[in-house]
Amino acid sequence: MPPMGESLSPDVATVPNAVLGRYGAFLIDVDGVLTRGRDALPGAVEGFGALRARGRTLVLTNNSTRSRGELAEHLGRLGFAVSPDDILGSAFLAARYLARHYGPVDVWVLGEDGVRDEMLLSGHRLAARPEGATWVVAGMDRDVTYAKLSQALRALVGGAKILATNEDATFPTADGLVPGAGAIVGALRGMGFAAEHVVGKPSPVAFEVALDLLGLPASRVLMIGDRLDTDIAGAQAAGVDSAFVLSGVDSLDDIARGGVHPTWIAASFADLCAGKAEPSRRRL
Ligand SMILES: [Mg+2]
Repeated sequence: MPPMGESLSPDVATVPNAVLGRYGAFLIDVDGVLTRGRDALPGAVEGFGALRARGRTLVLTNNSTRSRGELAEHLGRLGFAVSPDDILGSAFLAARYLARHYGPVDVWVLGEDGVRDEMLLSGHRLAARPEGATWVVAGMDRDVTYAKLSQALRALVGGAKILATNEDATFPTADGLVPGAGAIVGALRGMGFAAEHVVGKPSPVAFEVALDLLGLPASRVLMIGDRLDTDIAGAQAAGVDSAFVLSGVDSLDDIARGGVHPTWIAASFADLCAGKAEPSRRRL
């Protein structure tokens, strides 16, 4: 078997592609699709370039630890040519959602700097004390402590509501799975407080913002992801076709278990970009 991506040639974008040729724009997940841990997956950089030649591409990621600028920088270092405007991270989605629906607000962040940066960029204020916040914005926090949970609790007891960037249970790294934002949201729930809004995939908010930016009907857009419960389920609910790649968290067996049905299945993003994908109903 040839290594993944070997079939890609420099002119792959101009080769007729029965799968990708149906779509005018692409929403692309990052972890498990373009990257794994700190590295680009084989053939992903070339595939990404080929996809951009076919239509508009937006990176749609639940990663809340980095701002859009930092995500663009990180992806750029790995060889993906992408600008911050082409990235929809869940920290940005959170800041945009609050600005659109509530105006500038005072937030208490239980998460990493990506959330704080996006909040400030959207005109929100970081509360000096938990009691001064009207919203607790929750994201993945790799330095969470009992003291941080106590501060968030003070904000919530004081009347603040919770906006969750996403509820991903886990996050893939080179060393295996680590707890995702779902662990943080779950800790708040354990203290008696449920999230008022969730903006990352599979929330309709993520797909509404993406389709709005693309200016295309859902039928012309393809979501490419590795998680059935976020990428594929969210696309399905939004009426967007999806391509499920097997290079990340979920496997073919997981499809059989849930009620989530991708449109296409491919071994990898590189394979998909080379037109090597099957309709999921034929595969099953
Ligand atoms: Mg992923």
